[in-house]
Amino acid sequence: MPLPPRHILSKSTFMYGCQCPKRLWLHKYRPEVRDEMDEEQEAIFQRGTDVGKLAEQLFPGGVDARPETPYAYQQSVVDTARYIAEGRDIIYEAAFQYEGLLCAVDILVKQGNQWYAYEVKSTGSVKPPHIPDAAFQYYVITQAGLELADFSIVHLNTDYVRFADLNVQELFTSESVLDRLLLMQEFIHEKGLALKTVVANKTEMPEVEVGDHCYKPYNCDFLGYCYQGIDDEEEVDFGEPYVNHGAIKAFLSQLEYPIYHIDFESWRTVVPEYDGHWPFRQVCFQYSVHVERAPGVEPEHNAYLAEGTHSSSLEFIESLLGVLGTQGTVLVYNISFEKPRLTELMNEHPQHAEAIQNVIDRIVDLMKPFRKDYRTPEMQGKWTIKKVLPALVPELSYNELTIGNGTDASNAFYHLQHTQNPDDVERTRAALLEYCKLDTLAMVKLLEVLRKR
Ligand code: SF4
Repeated sequence: MPLPPRHILSKSTFMYGCQCPKRLWLHKYRPEVRDEMDEEQEAIFQRGTDVGKLAEQLFPGGVDARPETPYAYQQSVVDTARYIAEGRDIIYEAAFQYEGLLCAVDILVKQGNQWYAYEVKSTGSVKPPHIPDAAFQYYVITQAGLELADFSIVHLNTDYVRFADLNVQELFTSESVLDRLLLMQEFIHEKGLALKTVVANKTEMPEVEVGDHCYKPYNCDFLGYCYQGIDDEEEVDFGEPYVNHGAIKAFLSQLEYPIYHIDFESWRTVVPEYDGHWPFRQVCFQYSVHVERAPGVEPEHNAYLAEGTHSSSLEFIESLLGVLGTQGTVLVYNISFEKPRLTELMNEHPQHAEAIQNVIDRIVDLMKPFRKDYRTPEMQGKWTIKKVLPALVPELSYNELTIGNGTDASNAFYHLQHTQNPDDVERTRAALLEYCKLDTLAMVKLLEVLRKR
């Protein structure tokens, strides 16, 4: 079989076009104006095991049709056709092309006389954007001439907890989505024709205004380009300062000394790497606690940073419980992070359940007053600590730090395992300690701001 001509739309570019034809056009003809990659989203998927590769072990012994370079997919199409003709019954990255549309499916399996397709996703369930994505694959594969008996999404099983060797059969769950794909085939056909016209028009960028579609199903990577100009023209008004004195008084009156300002840092991977871990588990490796023992007394600082590359959750929680005692308010900034981590640790270490529950019962969220009852224009309508701190305590800043946000912190800790140089290890650990310390010192200062009201 000769190589087919280069495709016009791949699955990714088809999906870009579904979100916005302008996005597809910019991707093809103005890639240089793309925003820089969102590191936070990328980080966890770059860490650890390649999920797609791992899922191949569900169907071992297959033949690999993946291309040598991203530009060699037409060879993959030819190879896939040959493997099918040769009677191979498990093909990884099987590629198909039909009228300028190209797709590759992660795993293609023949059972009896029927073919089954499996697409692997690094998520804990089937998500809505997976359906048009798989519908495109189903369309191309079946139009190219291969009948499929079923099409399934393979995703992580979030109930799986690792002990000893990774159990790949339990790590993944497979769910048929064929019914949903069949309902979309006409849409895919029409959309494919329309988007090929967009690509054919090299000199004419589609005119699309920015709107909700720029963020759904994913943030577009040309937001910076499309919003350029709009930001310059519109003066953003974040309003007048607003202080609800009654609510702040009520918030302060519930605090009991000693007041513990706490902050955790964590890392996570899609595939669990250690015993007792599950997919996407947030593994706490560090905490910082500033303790105000009494009014006007200088706060004490306590910190923990796991040795080595993965935190022992028992060591973490036992150290933390030792600092927090049994009385006084435990202040967090954004309860939705620390509280679930404590609940997980409680389930994992039932011998400490009572003490952890005591901590949970003492938690108060310092973010709450800044969300509702205290606003200044400098906060720019936001209430994260990274926005509130420079607005209200400008002398304290994250800007000077080597590690300046939680994503950097978790990446730095995770990558310590690949660092051989003791100086680098020492420098990274010092930067982590400094960063986490600033988070809880910031809380102390923000509480002072509230008290002065
Ligand atoms: S930012 Fe919005 S309008 Fe611009 S290309 Fe992306 S989706 Fe389209």
